[in-house]
Amino acid sequence: MIAQNIQIIKKKISEAAQKAERQPQDIKLVAVSKHFSADSIREAFAAGQIIFGENYIQEVQTKKELVPAEAVFHFIGHLQSNKAKIAAETCDMIETLDSFKLGKALNSQLENLNKSLDILIQINIANDPQKSGVTANDAEKLLIEINELTRLRVCGLMTMPPLVANPELSRLHFRNLRILAEKFASKNLFPHVSTPELSMGMSDDFHIAIEEGATIIRVGTAIFGHRP
Ligand SMILES: *Cc1c(COP(=O)(O)O)cnc(C)c1O
Repeated sequence: MIAQNIQIIKKKISEAAQKAERQPQDIKLVAVSKHFSADSIREAFAAGQIIFGENYIQEVQTKKELVPAEAVFHFIGHLQSNKAKIAAETCDMIETLDSFKLGKALNSQLENLNKSLDILIQINIANDPQKSGVTANDAEKLLIEINELTRLRVCGLMTMPPLVANPELSRLHFRNLRILAEKFASKNLFPHVSTPELSMGMSDDFHIAIEEGATIIRVGTAIFGHRP
């Protein structure tokens, strides 16, 4: 079932990429395994899936022990500074950095571990009071500050637009994230990458996000089914 779902998603990624005249290999699939067991991750891994997305740091910690070492974890939830140590130890990318305080906490843990970590800045693209993330207006200041933290490699932006019934309504938010990333890239605020990553699009709207430039899509339900 999981293997079949992954094949279906990959086909849809190719179709959306083709429509946008992009290369499917420029789009990374993050399989969002939050609330699913390590068994589900192993099943997806056996089907060729490498990157997994988790919202709770304790889940990363437990599951990482139980899955192949080659599996890669992106943290996509709200990270508290007191969890920075475990995050620095277990995650391959933090997609949801949205404050200098958290950045400093991560950076000092990474100093201790003597390693660097890829991160994305989470943008609250629609100024939705329900959502975390820095506003588009405050993002440039945060990026400048975070770029001073030598252990953090800022690779791009991530967003989660407001929930809507019609995924077409998210298109403008996706487009705005891309425009914002292009602006920051032109100011050399992503010094570690040649083109910034754009993490946007989930089960219901990833095809639209790809048309608008997504390089990372985060898909849970369409791979693993409804969350337990
Ligand atoms: C849960 C979650 C997803 C996956 O959502 P689906 O609709 O199940 O594909 C993607 N991104 C974030 C940040 C999430 O919390």
